[in-house]
Amino acid sequence: MPGEYDQLLEATIEHLQQLKAHGTRFVTVDTAALKALTAPVAPAKAPAPRSLSAQAQTVAAAPAPVTPNTAAPVKERSVFAPAAGIPPEPVIEPLAPEAKPAAMAELRARASICVKCPSLVAARTQVVFGVGDVNAELMFVGEAPGADEDAQGEPFVGAAGQLLTKIIQTMGQSRETVYIGNILKCRPDMPPGASGNRKPTPAEMRTCIPYLHEQINIIRPRVMVALGATAVEGLFGKPIPITKQRGNWMTYRDIPVMPTFHPAYLLRNQAMSEKRKVWEDMLAVMERLGLEISEKQRGYFLRG
Ligand code: SF4
Repeated sequence: MPGEYDQLLEATIEHLQQLKAHGTRFVTVDTAALKALTAPVAPAKAPAPRSLSAQAQTVAAAPAPVTPNTAAPVKERSVFAPAAGIPPEPVIEPLAPEAKPAAMAELRARASICVKCPSLVAARTQVVFGVGDVNAELMFVGEAPGADEDAQGEPFVGAAGQLLTKIIQTMGQSRETVYIGNILKCRPDMPPGASGNRKPTPAEMRTCIPYLHEQINIIRPRVMVALGATAVEGLFGKPIPITKQRGNWMTYRDIPVMPTFHPAYLLRNQAMSEKRKVWEDMLAVMERLGLEISEKQRGYFLRG
């Protein structure tokens, strides 16, 4: 329908303007997409007015105005499925390493005053944007800030965060050499008097996920780790059982993603076998990154 086409076009224009605002200078668009962009203009050149049904047929037949780079392998595009309501992301040229800090700072400034989720805005202490190296090769993606993160303004600083920090250090890395971000930038609000944290709703994830997409576009890590089912759902736009998917590589655009258990799960389930599963996932990540792995590292949590 023409209305849907216009909405999609407006959403695409708005998204491109956002990319430009944070420093993106080039966007890769394939030939088919360019033809699609010009297709709606062509009927205006026709001397005689056309019937509404004929116009509707033209619009319905036109492909989406902007599509991911067709030069990328098909399997990469087919794995990535943006959640409903999120405009498709164009594949953008990687930023130069020296341009990334400014682009990330601009994005952080924009996110820090975001008021798209009124109930979360009313409850939050601050927006918890992300932490680490904007040129990191490895990026961890979690679910949402909890009470500790909301208070301190940094992701993964509570008990689960301390365990994640240990895992990162055991990999021979640090919080400064990787990047850590969340699907949601604000703590999901809790009923008055309730303690603990709650899972973000699908609507909240859809609203906030564009910020994470922009973070990933800026960093362009070589490998990502999705921590828990919610992180996988937020990244890939649909629920995927983490017990079945963990340990099996996925692809977000052209970036390999290792799904694994959330550290909070390891705090609840102290079984050595579960720790070993997560550690095996991290060994796979290290191998993918070409990091040296010692015999000691290979042997962690093998007992039990
Ligand atoms: S959760 Fe995300 S989209 Fe919602 S108010 Fe916070 S920063 Fe904005």
